[in-house]
Amino acid sequence: MLKSFKTEINPSEEQKVKIHKTIGTCRFIYNFYLAHNKELYDNGEKFMSSNRFRVWLNNEYLSEHPEYSWIKEAYSKAVTQSVNNGQTAFTRFFNHESAFPKFKKKGRSDVKMYFVKNNPKDCRCERHRINIPSLGWVRIKEKGYIPTTKDGYVIKSGTVSMKADRYYVSVLVEISNNKIADNSNAGIGIDLGLRDFAIVSNGKTYKNINKSARLKKLEKQLIREQRCLFRKYENLKKGEVTQRANIQKQKLKVQKLHHKIDNIRTDYINKTVAEIVKTKPSYITIEDLNVKGMMKNRHLSKAVASQKFYKFRTKLQIKCNENGIELRVVDRWYPSSKTCHCCGAIKKDLKLSDRIFKCSCGYVEDRDFNAALNLRDAITYEVA
Ligand SMILES: [Zn+2]
Repeated sequence: MLKSFKTEINPSEEQKVKIHKTIGTCRFIYNFYLAHNKELYDNGEKFMSSNRFRVWLNNEYLSEHPEYSWIKEAYSKAVTQSVNNGQTAFTRFFNHESAFPKFKKKGRSDVKMYFVKNNPKDCRCERHRINIPSLGWVRIKEKGYIPTTKDGYVIKSGTVSMKADRYYVSVLVEISNNKIADNSNAGIGIDLGLRDFAIVSNGKTYKNINKSARLKKLEKQLIREQRCLFRKYENLKKGEVTQRANIQKQKLKVQKLHHKIDNIRTDYINKTVAEIVKTKPSYITIEDLNVKGMMKNRHLSKAVASQKFYKFRTKLQIKCNENGIELRVVDRWYPSSKTCHCCGAIKKDLKLSDRIFKCSCGYVEDRDFNAALNLRDAITYEVA
């Protein structure tokens, strides 16, 4: 089974130059392929496949146009892939699945640098770095995020992409299904919430990171910079043309802050998942959160979005699969909060503000911890 992993990388200046150059060439070739086929089409000639185009380019076009020979300097697998992507776009168009392929504009398009494992030395991955063909070893920001070669994982292919001055690698990793894991410990239940992020039935609580001083400060800063950007736009409307360059600068500032905040949240989720999985439970039970429903509530939507529950669920699923842990999901009508874990009675009048669960049987427990215990012991669930 192939699984994909995406994470931020820290390329050196020299590697950045190479990435820019490769992506630039890929964009150029993609657009060239589109334009060439458009011309053929307009002249009533036959469509040119990716293979034929590349033969024509190398054997005919480039020998007549040596000024374009820089195309050959880029990593050829990436260039080939971008022509293939062009062919796919045409195929979709011919099958009436999409509109006529669009040209990729600089800075506004999703052109990526494709790479593939061609020999045993390619695509090796260690905890802190990955070997990318034509770039060499590139540092990984979040250590250990991608399964390592040492642990027997094989990276088949991947892409390098850029967004707002940041660089990312996305890889396809072969994961064997028969990885036998030792998950002999008892199962656990996790209650996710807005007050605390996660309450685990083993007694651990993961705080809501958005309430941390660090994130609160960054959020404030973001609001400030966004207001500043807004003001600059207003001034531009008033005719202060000199603002244009400042707006670009300010835009980048806002984007960078967004990324920074997003990365802190994602890191936190990854760390939480890693820590939970490390306890080697035989199963993990969670509630099937109705994230979409919660997002519709405008009082909650921002808080819910900032918690990244969906990302948590996805990450947990990946790690459970990798480690052979059963992930159990109970539906969202399961009264995990309202059930007394001691006697099983259901407390219908439990309010959201009741932080302590008190049952008539004498049982008193923290509301969320009680829910986590009920999730752990749930007998009706689906295996995700
Ligand atoms: Zn009770």
